[in-house]
Amino acid sequence: AAASSGGLVAYADSGSDAAVEKPQLPQRKKVVVLGTGWGGTTFLRNLDSRLYDVQVISPRNYFAFTPLLPSVTSGTVEPRSIVEPIRRVLEKKGGEIKFWEAECFKIDPRNKKIHCRSNIGTNLDGNGEFLVDYDYLVVAVGARTNTFNTPGVVENCHFLKEVEDAQKIRRSVMDCFERASLPFLDEEERKKNLHFVVVGGGPTGVEFAASLHDFVTEDLSKLYPSVQHLVKISLIEAADHILTMFDKRITNFAEDKFGRDGIDVKTGYKVVKVSKDAITMQNPATGDISVPYGMAVWSTGIGTRPFIVEFMKQIGQGNRRVLATDEWLRVRECDDVYAIGDCATINQRRVMEDIAEIFRVADKDKSGTLTVKEIQDVLDDIYVRYPQVQLYLKSKQMNGIADLVRSAKGDAEKESVELNIEEFKKALSLVDSQVKFLPATAQVASQQGQYLARCFNKMKDAEEHPEGPIRIRGEGRHRFRPFRYRHLGQFAPLGGEQTAAQLPGDWISIGHSTQWLWYSVYATKQISWRTRMLVVSDWTRRFIFGRDSSC
Ligand code: FAD
Ligand code: MG
Ligand code: MG
Ligand code: MG
Ligand code: MG
Repeated sequence: AAASSGGLVAYADSGSDAAVEKPQLPQRKKVVVLGTGWGGTTFLRNLDSRLYDVQVISPRNYFAFTPLLPSVTSGTVEPRSIVEPIRRVLEKKGGEIKFWEAECFKIDPRNKKIHCRSNIGTNLDGNGEFLVDYDYLVVAVGARTNTFNTPGVVENCHFLKEVEDAQKIRRSVMDCFERASLPFLDEEERKKNLHFVVVGGGPTGVEFAASLHDFVTEDLSKLYPSVQHLVKISLIEAADHILTMFDKRITNFAEDKFGRDGIDVKTGYKVVKVSKDAITMQNPATGDISVPYGMAVWSTGIGTRPFIVEFMKQIGQGNRRVLATDEWLRVRECDDVYAIGDCATINQRRVMEDIAEIFRVADKDKSGTLTVKEIQDVLDDIYVRYPQVQLYLKSKQMNGIADLVRSAKGDAEKESVELNIEEFKKALSLVDSQVKFLPATAQVASQQGQYLARCFNKMKDAEEHPEGPIRIRGEGRHRFRPFRYRHLGQFAPLGGEQTAAQLPGDWISIGHSTQWLWYSVYATKQISWRTRMLVVSDWTRRFIFGRDSSC
């Protein structure tokens, strides 16, 4: 009878006979997830939550579909259409996952604890702080906007990162139009109020500028006919071009289209100061110039959150800019902590660091030299472990390893097909130049969340079979493949129902048909049928009635 009562209660209050009362099932390990954005939410949706005791901590109790944030700034899509309460996501998992609305402010990897603070409630000490233990920690806290410490940015500019930011921008645009319409302003003042400045020519800045332009020309110009001719949109970018992460054809198309639309694209200008009334920017040719503005949106890239910077110092990553993980998404030098999405980067293992080991494993007959066949036998495993090798061969238009061997030997020795270690080193000496950093996108974060959940679902396997430096087929060693990103393409909406897309294999598509592809992709990517319905009906409403400008 005592055994059948078992379970947690008896275990907790048992004294000396604890051993007898121990529950039969081993305690489930505690998994703590920080963040409910793209990485965290995708991880949770794919995790087999019966295997773990899962707790989720995030200051936001919802997931936000960030690709549609620019559409919220113009009222094309309503804020509530792009958010999904995290408790709904968890409910679908059978209600076994706990959620705390709080932010983590310190990670203590030595004691495997995290320090959290709630902003909506206080404990007996009068603050909202509490501790949470973990066995495994998944850090998916995203990034913060980077201001590069430019003075006045935080005080005077909008960011576009959260749903509230998008709502504030929308209200601010409307305020600018109303202010510009007041009877007591002179022409200069009206112009100033209607000068909208976007700092940063990346995908977010460009899409925002485009959607603002649409909003102004298609909707607001009808409502504010007396001031509409005074509107100006400027896009400021420090590099020589906008959308530099895209193919040149897309960059050129975007710059031309913005030129025709009357959006003032200022490339080669660096913003150095923002005050209440003016933005100061610098260009080697012109020196400092200050322009008055009505509203500014700052979108120049991302930086590491302060508590992650502290964590990095603790674990010996203090000299890095971004938290580093290995290809299995495990934080380097820190057991049982994983990091995914914008808060981390994968530190891809270099071939040159492992070259002796690769040589040893490949040299099956222990002859001290490698034949092309010996290399070919381990090539698939090398490709998995070191994707840069494949990229390198492709970039050199080499058909395979035989070409590489030949090039290492030099043309004169075409007949010789065996490489010693020095020659092997020489052959591979440049491959590491092809190591790629993954972009900070929802696509990367969600693929990482999915990958990591699959690893967790098979964790027992992994613990029994830790990986070696490379996975050699036929040796009977089983372990996970490292994370591999699959690029499915990227969109750049440019306004006027025109979108550019760069699809895998450098396939470029630009125009109205791509806009429809964009609509269909973003409709299918929605996290639930509820948000899908809401987004599609927002788009339909917009087609029929135009954007809502009540605010
Ligand atoms: P996030 O999604 O930012 O999630 C971070 C989570 O951590 C949030 O829930 C946050 O509340 C929580 N958090 C923060 N601090 C703490 C803390 N201290 N403790 C606990 N939790 C914390 N990507 C694309 O692929 N395609 C696009 O079209 C696209 N468009 C974008 C448009 C905009 C306007 C923006 C801002 C981004 C866009 N992105 C796009 C990028 C994409 O949103 C990010 O790459 C993605 O959100 C990264 O996911 P993440 O999980 O790392 O971080
Ligand atoms: Mg997240
Ligand atoms: Mg998100
Ligand atoms: Mg990342
Ligand atoms: Mg050999």
